[in-house]
Amino acid sequence: MSTVGIIGGGLGGLAAACTLAARGHRVTLLEKNAWLGGKAALLEEGGFRFDMGPTILTMPRVLERVFAEAGRRLGDYLDLVRLDPQWRCFYDDGTVLDLRGEERAAREAIAAISPHDSKGFDDFMAVARRLADVSDRFFFWKSVEDLRDTMNVRANMNLSTLADVLSLRMHRTVAGQIKRNIADARVRQMLEHFIQYVGSSPLGAPAVLCGIAQMQMGEGVWYPMGGTRAVPLALTRLAEELGVDLRPGTDVSRIETEGGRAVAIRTASGERLAFDRIVSNMDSVRTYRELVGGAAWESFRKGRRREPACSGVVLYLGLDRAYDHLAHHNFVFSRDPEEEFGAIYDRGEPAPDPTAYIAAPARTEPAVAPPGGEALYVLVHTPYLRPHHDWARMLPAYRRVILDKLARTAGMADLEERIVVERVLTPQDIHDRYRVLDGAIYGLASHGKVLGAFKPGNRSRQVAGLYLAGGSAHPGPGMPMALMSGWIAADTLHADATRNAPAESHAAE
Ligand SMILES: Cc1cc2nc3c(=O)[nH]c(=O)nc-3n(C[C@H](O)[C@H](O)[C@H](O)COP(=O)(O)OP(=O)(O)OC[C@H]3O[C@@H](n4cnc5c(N)ncnc54)[C@H](O)[C@@H]3O)c2cc1C
Repeated sequence: MSTVGIIGGGLGGLAAACTLAARGHRVTLLEKNAWLGGKAALLEEGGFRFDMGPTILTMPRVLERVFAEAGRRLGDYLDLVRLDPQWRCFYDDGTVLDLRGEERAAREAIAAISPHDSKGFDDFMAVARRLADVSDRFFFWKSVEDLRDTMNVRANMNLSTLADVLSLRMHRTVAGQIKRNIADARVRQMLEHFIQYVGSSPLGAPAVLCGIAQMQMGEGVWYPMGGTRAVPLALTRLAEELGVDLRPGTDVSRIETEGGRAVAIRTASGERLAFDRIVSNMDSVRTYRELVGGAAWESFRKGRRREPACSGVVLYLGLDRAYDHLAHHNFVFSRDPEEEFGAIYDRGEPAPDPTAYIAAPARTEPAVAPPGGEALYVLVHTPYLRPHHDWARMLPAYRRVILDKLARTAGMADLEERIVVERVLTPQDIHDRYRVLDGAIYGLASHGKVLGAFKPGNRSRQVAGLYLAGGSAHPGPGMPMALMSGWIAADTLHADATRNAPAESHAAE
């Protein structure tokens, strides 16, 4: 078995650590921040508790698989509650539409505002199911960097695989697929928002990502009691039980290579730690650019243009009143999605009339706020950081835009007067706290009809013994994918280590 150094203690790093330790490797995890969990961080103030990053948990089977590696039951570590409705949607024209947790109920709610989209929704979900199934078989649970990795063409190319490949609809975008199925602009806007989970534009993302709709509708939206923060806490507990050496407060400045192979980690304080293999949970582009450098970085950057996904502004608002018309998860939609996506993804400017996502977790767990209060989390997607973006200067005006939007479209006219605690996270904060690429929340954008879904693979093609885990590596961002990425990095590393054990035993020396 190997000694393994993991750089970064986000969900990807923690999932890799637990999986590797469960398989018998000696694991050391180095995290620059004082807490583990990365973006799944916590803010507590004045009796309010806010999850600072992810709030919508889907596909808990990925977490289950990580815990199962160690023979544990997820239910012994996390109390998960299924939410219905999954989202409540508020529109500029006053419409309120719930995305219900069961497909039949969701169809009925859609039919109530747009009767002839009832069949279109069924058709869309049939496509989504097919795409989710193809993703599961060809794309998930293994290291993939491009089409060649998805399948062994010679061995698998038969009529049924060909049908699968055609079903990927490589000539179509997410928006194009939804437009074929759905006539009503409000329903389209709701379904297009699944792609916001990967911080990309529905107008540029490949149709295969419509599979996300099935992953959510089929498997549900879940809330861990204690908040999303309970997820990294559960993983940390498991890692400790499995003997992982957890070192928060340790900044890594370099991956040392010898003869093209990763052999050691150098910390910012000058310590040199030798390992057989290394997993980086730091942003994949920044891993090559800043930790590895040289020819490996040149080769990585030449491969493909790597565009950051969107960033965002989050307002954490402790209120002295509750808004009972909110569900746990809410979207307050922009008046014009094309204007919104054009601003964020094409022009690189904050949208003038944005979509705001609101989490009101007191609906499920009243203890997040003092009695009668509300711990609101408001996220608005913004472009990734451009050189002229100065959020210290831009924030006051954009905060106004967001609060006005909530007052106007979500029936929260007195919101500003009811704020007793207010904190904010800007794209610059996201960039600095988590050391991501240009403030990107969700790693790399999924734009491009053919290659949009592909990210850097989990086994480095540039550096032997280096593996990538996290939202900017395969299979992509969001909690379930970042966790799966950690599992794949660990599984790939384990396969390499056990296949080549005798030949590679000198690597740690
Ligand atoms: C505001 C916001 C809202 C979101 N909402 C959702 C949501 O509702 N649902 C969902 O599924 N996803 C959501 N996401 C995305 C989700 O949080 C991420 O995809 C996921 O948490 C990424 O995990 P990760 O392991 O890739 O990276 P991270 O959480 O970024 O962890 C990487 C870790 O590496 C550390 N690190 C980096 N460089 C070094 C170094 N050189 N040395 C030591 N440590 C280093 C960082 O400090 C960090 O802790 C949201 C994200 C944000 C920011």
